Amino acid sequence: MSEQLDKILIDKKVELTQRITAIEADFKKGRSADFSEQTTESENDEVLDEIHHEAKVELSLVNNAILKLENGQYGICETCDDDINPERLKALPYTSTCIKCAK
Ligand SMILES: [Zn+2]
Repeated sequence: MSEQLDKILIDKKVELTQRITAIEADFKKGRSADFSEQTTESENDEVLDEIHHEAKVELSLVNNAILKLENGQYGICETCDDDINPERLKALPYTSTCIKCAK
């Protein structure tokens, strides 16, 4: 089970890292001088910003989970030290809190 988890987490990490790199490359491309295009671009920027932020948050959770897996701390709630429900871990492999503390 833990080998499989390892793979899931590492795959997720690769996916998120690629997504973040792609968004950052997009940001660097520069802005169009055309006003109507600028408007569209700034709306896109907001969406991109949000995706970028979420991906970064997710990536830090994934990294955290990988560390815990290595330390044998995986599956333990960071807040109350209880075991995290296996069903919850299946749905959210990189969660760091149990369902009670997540609320
Ligand atoms: Zn808890």
